[in-house]
Amino acid sequence: MPLSATLVQESARVTPVRGSYDIIVAGGGPAGYAAALGAARAGASVLVLEQAACLGGIWTAGLLPWIIDQHTRGSIMGELRDYILNQAGGTLVGTTLGVDPELLKLRLETDLVAAGIRLRYNTMITAALKGSDGRTITHAITESKAGREAWQAKLFIDCSGDGDLAAQAGCGFDYGNEHGLAQPTSLGVIVSGIDPERLEAELPRAIRKVKLCEFLREGGLEPSYSLPGLGYLGHGLFFYAGAHQYNRRFDDPDALTAALIEARAEAHRQIEILRRRGGLWANLRLHGTASALGIREARRIHGRATVTVDDIIKGRSTTRTVCRSHFGLDVHSPDPSRTRGIDKPMEIQARPYGIPWEALVARDCDNLLMAGRCISGDFLAHSSYRVTGTAVALGEGAGRGAARALQRGILPAELTDEDLATVTDDLADQ
Ligand SMILES: Cc1cc2nc3c(=O)[nH]c(=O)nc-3n(C[C@H](O)[C@H](O)[C@H](O)COP(=O)(O)OP(=O)(O)OC[C@H]3O[C@@H](n4cnc5c(N)ncnc54)[C@H](O)[C@@H]3O)c2cc1C
Repeated sequence: MPLSATLVQESARVTPVRGSYDIIVAGGGPAGYAAALGAARAGASVLVLEQAACLGGIWTAGLLPWIIDQHTRGSIMGELRDYILNQAGGTLVGTTLGVDPELLKLRLETDLVAAGIRLRYNTMITAALKGSDGRTITHAITESKAGREAWQAKLFIDCSGDGDLAAQAGCGFDYGNEHGLAQPTSLGVIVSGIDPERLEAELPRAIRKVKLCEFLREGGLEPSYSLPGLGYLGHGLFFYAGAHQYNRRFDDPDALTAALIEARAEAHRQIEILRRRGGLWANLRLHGTASALGIREARRIHGRATVTVDDIIKGRSTTRTVCRSHFGLDVHSPDPSRTRGIDKPMEIQARPYGIPWEALVARDCDNLLMAGRCISGDFLAHSSYRVTGTAVALGEGAGRGAARALQRGILPAELTDEDLATVTDDLADQ
């Protein structure tokens, strides 16, 4: 019913409950894939609710299959690494893995289906129902072509990257830096038509970003990102990330639509400029642009502990560590007038550090965990732990920990040091 020109009132409705599970995983990106697999392998029944039409999040829908900090421990990342290097024809550059996103898409799906996990694609979580205690999520509410549906679970793991389920359940969160500004977005692009050996010889990695920026400027374009990335994924495919879009919030679809339009246009312009250089670039082709804009930063859900930059400076680890991160700070400047590249706000020497279990346990809900980039952390710490190797390890830890809590009939926050040692035996060590 219209209330005014700008407000309508919807009537209350009855929503069908479509299933009941031990654990529901919100989002099937790197963290969600590993959370679901970790939980199912530990004996839990699991549903993954995913808004896209595939698993993998930024790797697949985002076309950035470039896995940093993959040496973070855990069996799932180890299995993926073996698959990527021994079967998928992927690449290892330093400690970073590259892989054809289509092969990864198939592999992730095959793994979850084989583990008996129910997948529901094209289904977005839009609300959460809580019990009378106000601290327990009873159902995730989704919207899809099937309409509005409810899904019941004992425990929930928010792996949506943006912390959507937690926010819908009323959990507190932080966003951006001290000025409320988040890192820019970028669109993943796959290109082909370059000889990888010739690229390495003519434009070695150490100078590649700076040179690419120079080439774009020589071609008449001031790129919105001064350090364009180009990395080999195998099978003649490269990821390319050459643009930033500033001050676009993850929860503003109009701003994200404008960002996508700008990003896609800039990607085509950049590739055309490089192709016109001839030589190494003569056969360069833009193979595909991502269907989802890459969101570096959204909600950081309040947990029972917060990962801070001080933890990274000190290389702190505790008996409650889920996994260790080996990646330094990587802040893409939120302010285009300062630098269109990586911001180094202060000279920080990062050391490998442990991420505590409590940073994955929601402060404001008792049966909710987070994994991936929406865990509890400060702005600078997030720029380190957000990478996908860490997301996989966090997901695996969250999934196993959730299953352990269910088996013991306790809440996730009540896991003892001994429980955690069992859950994280191959994640937290080094
Ligand atoms: C432009 C860019 C470049 C990056 N480069 C690298 C890199 O080179 N290497 C690296 O390791 N990391 C990189 N990162 C960081 C990394 O990609 C992310 O931090 C990482 O994806 C975190 O994994 P995740 O599983 O938490 O989130 P995501 O990959 O974002 O996955 C979240 C999943 O949840 C789904 N989802 C979201 N909301 C809902 C909802 N309401 N209902 C249902 N499903 C939902 C999404 O569709 C998605 O599949 C980059 C990030 C960006 C944006």
